[in-house]
Amino acid sequence: GGQWSDYLEVKGLHVEFDGFVAVKNLDLTVEHGDLRFLIGPNGAGKTTIIDAITGLTPATGSATFRGEQLLGKKPNDIVKLGVGRTFQTASVVEELSVLENLQLAEGFRKKTSDLFKKVKGVSQNIQYMLDVTGLTADAYKPAGILPHGKKQWLEIGMLLVQDAHLLLLDEPVAGMTPEERQQTGELLKRCSRNRTVIIVEHDMDFMRQFADSVTVLNQGEVLAEGSVEEIQNNDEVVRIYLGG
Ligand code: ADP
Repeated sequence: GGQWSDYLEVKGLHVEFDGFVAVKNLDLTVEHGDLRFLIGPNGAGKTTIIDAITGLTPATGSATFRGEQLLGKKPNDIVKLGVGRTFQTASVVEELSVLENLQLAEGFRKKTSDLFKKVKGVSQNIQYMLDVTGLTADAYKPAGILPHGKKQWLEIGMLLVQDAHLLLLDEPVAGMTPEERQQTGELLKRCSRNRTVIIVEHDMDFMRQFADSVTVLNQGEVLAEGSVEEIQNNDEVVRIYLGG
């Protein structure tokens, strides 16, 4: 399909835990090329939405990416539809080098049986991703010794190598230094040019600097949506979340 269908469309997404409604009939559309921030108080349902889209939590309703229904599919099959996510704690293989982690991700995209095959040479794709994520000089270091920021960039690089076109990131800059935040923002901005990027975040300075658009959630529902300026000038958002 062309880029016209390259967006995430969530309709009537509903998640309950033992009768508790965590996400309530939620509609959410995120366009190709958008860097969308998902904000809101703790317990608003942000992570649950990401979990539902990636197949980790059962949900009803609909969530399509590039026209393909994601709900009801297994997490691995959702990855193969171009959907990638990161967690708050980077899930890289600490014992393997940066390069091997990327090769693992590349292998996953191809065939699971090739996963642990010794790879000869470094593909152009991986060389490019090392460059994009600023990890070329660290390629042969074990991922476990990387500082927190670089681990997150490696994880993002792994999603890119997997050909993810919808990136779902859970608090990517938590625990980062100001410089790492800046670099992460620039990396994600670049990623979003030809992808769809959704970031769950509590760091409002980071949001102000890098968001194209913002969705504010409260108690499983959309409270407001718009540009950073619109969100900051929304009385209800200020009252419930931004404070003041
Ligand atoms: P946020 O990411 O916005 O902080 P979450 O999506 O983590 O919010 O949680 C939304 C609500 O759903 C919270 O009230 C949380 O306690 C509840 N919840 C999340 N996961 C589960 C679960 N596995 N079992 C029961 N309740 C859950």
